[in-house]
Amino acid sequence: MAENCIFCRIVAGELPASMVYEDETVVAFKDIRPQAPVHVLVVPREHVDSIAHLDDSHAEMAGKTILAVEKVARAVGGLEEGYRVIINCGEAGGQTVPHLHLHLLGGRRFSEGMVRD
Ligand code: 5GP
Ligand code: ZN
Repeated sequence: MAENCIFCRIVAGELPASMVYEDETVVAFKDIRPQAPVHVLVVPREHVDSIAHLDDSHAEMAGKTILAVEKVARAVGGLEEGYRVIINCGEAGGQTVPHLHLHLLGGRRFSEGMVRD
């Protein structure tokens, strides 16, 4: 657990969150400032600062985190038509919480153009 990390504190149950899914590798909870009708954060229990901080020792954790996404989508429901998954990395990538997490966004259609300001 990293000191003063919001997501570590949510994982530890020290801060409240609206949980939608949990397993041995990840927790998933609703984003506090949703940017789509469904906006869930998929957060590995282990603290890693960002995707840039993963190394080979994280292969199993990283794989299980990716595998958890569809399980989270099924737990949320209503995402059978699809969804978008985003990982921000570092300041220029728009990452504001330095604990690796995936954004699961859905409940609306996204453009094929993908990136907007
Ligand atoms: P990032 O910008 O790092 O990719 O995403 C961080 C996300 O965490 C943002 O979408 C932000 O709204 C969300 N967030 C920040 N603090 C909290 C919190 O305390 N609880 C929840 N549920 N979401 C948070
Ligand atoms: Zn953390």
